Amino acid sequence: MDRAMAADQEAHWKKKYFDSLEELEAKEQRWAELEQVLRQLASRLTLAADTSDDQLNKTLDRLRNDLRRKAPAARLGGHLEAINAAILRLDERRKSEARRLTPSTALSKILDRIELPQGLRRKGRDLNKRLARAESDAVAEQLVEDFARLMQESLDWLAEAAREAGAPGPAEPAEPPTGLFRRLFGTGDDSGTDETCLAAAGEALALALSHLQVPDDQRARRDALIRRARGLQSREALEQWSGELDAWLAELMTPASEPPNEVLLELLERLDLPESLSDEVARLKERLAGDLTRSSLSRSIADLASLVARARHAVQEEKDEIERFLADLTARLGEIDATLADSMQAHQDMVARRHDFDRRVSGEVEGMQASVREADELEALKQAIRQRLEHIQHHMQDWRQMENEREQRLREENEQLAAQLDTFRAEATGLHEKLEAARRLAMRDALTGLPNRMAWEERMQAELARAERHGRPLTLAILDIDHFKQINDRFGHPAGDRVLQILADLFRKKTRASDFLARFGGEEFMLVLPETTAEDALGVADKLRQAVEQAHFHYRKQSVPVTLSCGLAAYREGDDIERLYARADAALYRAKQDGRNRCILGD
Ligand code: GH3
Ligand code: MG
Ligand code: MG
Repeated sequence: MDRAMAADQEAHWKKKYFDSLEELEAKEQRWAELEQVLRQLASRLTLAADTSDDQLNKTLDRLRNDLRRKAPAARLGGHLEAINAAILRLDERRKSEARRLTPSTALSKILDRIELPQGLRRKGRDLNKRLARAESDAVAEQLVEDFARLMQESLDWLAEAAREAGAPGPAEPAEPPTGLFRRLFGTGDDSGTDETCLAAAGEALALALSHLQVPDDQRARRDALIRRARGLQSREALEQWSGELDAWLAELMTPASEPPNEVLLELLERLDLPESLSDEVARLKERLAGDLTRSSLSRSIADLASLVARARHAVQEEKDEIERFLADLTARLGEIDATLADSMQAHQDMVARRHDFDRRVSGEVEGMQASVREADELEALKQAIRQRLEHIQHHMQDWRQMENEREQRLREENEQLAAQLDTFRAEATGLHEKLEAARRLAMRDALTGLPNRMAWEERMQAELARAERHGRPLTLAILDIDHFKQINDRFGHPAGDRVLQILADLFRKKTRASDFLARFGGEEFMLVLPETTAEDALGVADKLRQAVEQAHFHYRKQSVPVTLSCGLAAYREGDDIERLYARADAALYRAKQDGRNRCILGD
């Protein structure tokens, strides 16, 4: 090997060495950038996840601080467990809150779902706290107003942010970062992302997304995005993926993703208004299902408000009637009391009069005895005695007349009293029947005629007490229609209503008289099976499920696919309604997770 060749080789190796050094440096730089981006992403996601759960917020704060201080990964991982526990807690709370949707929880739900800009978050949290304190069925006007103002402010903020993003400054790249995703990542030199980087980024994104709390109906989309993040193979795929994430996040953040008439319809369906208003309710539902214009919407809101006011009025009237009856009762009891006092007095007068009579008659008799003793002439004696006898006869007549009058008066008073008591009895019976009818109505669901939630609670109390006392089996099944929202969306609410009615009939036919069936609200039914073991109840529930699956619903000649999922739980010693219900509900949740159209027995 000659010298020149050796020098050549040396140069060659040197170059190779420098090249690979450079490559390594570039790689390291990209890793550092990626790490920076991931830290930023994590930090911003913790901001986005800002919740009403104080403990979770504290953990998120700590995580955010650690992220900023570039704490080692092991320390960051330590927060995960606390966050997982808090998310589980939140999930439980959301699930139980979702069951009682009142106007205040509806507003608070909306607040929970939207991501408020940083500057408005404290306001949002405060409002949420006030909403949580609000009485279940009344939202103060002030709260609604504050809610509307907050929405307006956040819209203004979004508009402002969009304007800023649309005006590229000197430091901005040619194409301004528009969507949320790009705002999260900021910009940077992203040329030449290699496969390892992509795979790591995909994994990190998938992990971050899997912690994002989303509404039930959005889970499938989130999971699809997670799956695709793990398989990202090129820069273009990442671009496209981020565009989709962007669009989806924007959709999630739009509070009005549900048209207002849908919200009103749902509210109307959950309000449980008295049956006497069902015609008006039906008319309003029809209007809400029709074309939506601003004026028809505001008319519908006014109508809904007036329906609620009338329902309240009806309750008030019932209360007034009972109060009137009680006032009447009190007045009449007063009269009876006075009559009794009168007759007492009359009795005392009579006793006094009898004394008087006795005294007078004894006086006359004594007078007669004296006349006999002192008489010395028969004619005078006869005269005196006749006189005395006449006096006695007078006293007797007076007495008889007085007695007759008294008897007459007593009879009249008695008749009056009896008549009074009769009207009384009739009125009390009428009122009792009315109250009983009102109670029956209040215990029934107007749409299906089935017992409602209130009736279910009453029956559950009785059945639980019986199961406990006699150690007998008792099983509760929750039947929930699958994707009922889609049925409403595709075929309209009247079709949805019709499905509910047909299902109620079907359930009624397929269950025993000793089983208790109720509509729990919305598209959920309860089946209480006394004297039935969990296994037998599972058989009954599955029979119902199959019957629904095979029922072939049709609406206006279109086939409407209807299935149901069911969660069951058997009574265990010491169970109360909440505990038994919670176990059945958890089983129902599993049935939904496992693909719906199935029955699952809880543990
Ligand atoms: P899942 O399979 O998870 O149970 O999905 P889902 O759509 O059935 O459940 P979700 O609870 O999201 O929606 C229930 C829907 O039922 C929303 C509401 O509009 C509708 N609904 C509730 N009550 C009534 C009613 O009386 N009539 C009609 N037509 N729809 C109702
Ligand atoms: Mg449901
Ligand atoms: Mg459902």
